[in-house]
Amino acid sequence: MDVHKCEGRLLLGPGPSNVSPRVLGAMSRPLLGHLDPDFLKIMNEIQDRLRQVFQTSNGLTIPISGTGSAGMEACVANFVEEGDSVLIGVNGVFGQRLADMVSRHGGSPTLVESAWGDPVDEKGMLEAAQKCKPRIVAVVHAETSTGVLQPVEPFREICDRFDSLLLVDTVTSLGGHPVEVDSWGIDLCYSGTQKCLSCPPGLGPITVSAKAEQRLKERTSKCKSWYLDLNLVNSYWGSDRTYHHTAPISMNYALLETLNMVMEEGLQQRWDRHRRNHQALVAGIEGLGLRMYVAPEHRLWSLNTVTIPEGVEDAQVRSQLLSEHNLEIGGGLGELAGKVWRVGLMGENSRSQSVLHFLFALEKCLKKQGFQCQPGAGVQAAAAFYIGDPATHEGEANLSRTLSGLPAG
Ligand SMILES: *Cc1c(COP(=O)(O)O)cnc(C)c1O
Repeated sequence: MDVHKCEGRLLLGPGPSNVSPRVLGAMSRPLLGHLDPDFLKIMNEIQDRLRQVFQTSNGLTIPISGTGSAGMEACVANFVEEGDSVLIGVNGVFGQRLADMVSRHGGSPTLVESAWGDPVDEKGMLEAAQKCKPRIVAVVHAETSTGVLQPVEPFREICDRFDSLLLVDTVTSLGGHPVEVDSWGIDLCYSGTQKCLSCPPGLGPITVSAKAEQRLKERTSKCKSWYLDLNLVNSYWGSDRTYHHTAPISMNYALLETLNMVMEEGLQQRWDRHRRNHQALVAGIEGLGLRMYVAPEHRLWSLNTVTIPEGVEDAQVRSQLLSEHNLEIGGGLGELAGKVWRVGLMGENSRSQSVLHFLFALEKCLKKQGFQCQPGAGVQAAAAFYIGDPATHEGEANLSRTLSGLPAG
């Protein structure tokens, strides 16, 4: 394998997203022991920053060793006991994964299914809750398989009625969309590092409310996973700081650097940037004469699903994007395979350069397949959006400063 061939590859798929030299640099720092007092300070800083990004004051806020799915499994394994009723809104692959994990850990899942591309059916969830009396209500905030943003606040009401915990997957929203753990009343929230946080894959940040911590104390059986048992993991990340497993030191360096960058840019500025670049991409896609898969009011900013036009070969377009333009996008997952492309604008890839380059490359690939449009129509529509939106320039200047580590002003 010639590694140089991959240099400069633009990762506009469903994650991982590109990682800045600042974060890669942090990963190459000399190792410290996992109980070294200097590493313990780094752990404190990570927990502090994670609370800021999750917008919570939860004590139990830690990066699980493992990817986003490990964060998901930590939330399931610790809070689901044999026979527990769990209500899950399923409108894509990740809702299904949650349901699978709940059954594996002995829970009894009730699924409320919606069409892929639609949000979860709120009325259906309430009706199902009346029957199944859930201990946990679970939804995916950003369904990466479909590109749907799910409002989570309505489910808090259901939880209040049935004294359930609210569990939310924010793997593709944290750092790209507002995630307000405390004000939305989320009890269990997990995410991943390689999506809107633009860090390599390898850690699954989670946060647990005081109410959920109480549930943990009331468990009648041991958590079935030794590795993910939060009582044990928290003996390391909590005040005791005793050994449980060896923390992935370099990944934690990377996470801290990334979180510092998120705070330097500013949460609001970062969300605004994700929104604007999404809007520009949509303008460009429509300018090309293509359609977005999800209705405008339910679209994610971080993951854009584009309907593949009639007569265009999905796999050929994606492989040409990769080989000729050094650019990755995702194909459809599950029932959307062959029907949509998934274009991620996550973290540092949410910028005008990526959007314009992608639209140019996509048009070239479409043209090769006989697809007709006004030459440059996609790029033109996106450029017109940016030119009409002065905040874009400011947002990108702010991003560049963050990426280079220069102070503002
Ligand atoms: C990517 C993703 C996951 C799983 O994360 P991994 O890092 O691949 O384990 C879970 N939920 C959602 C919504 C995701 O997008």
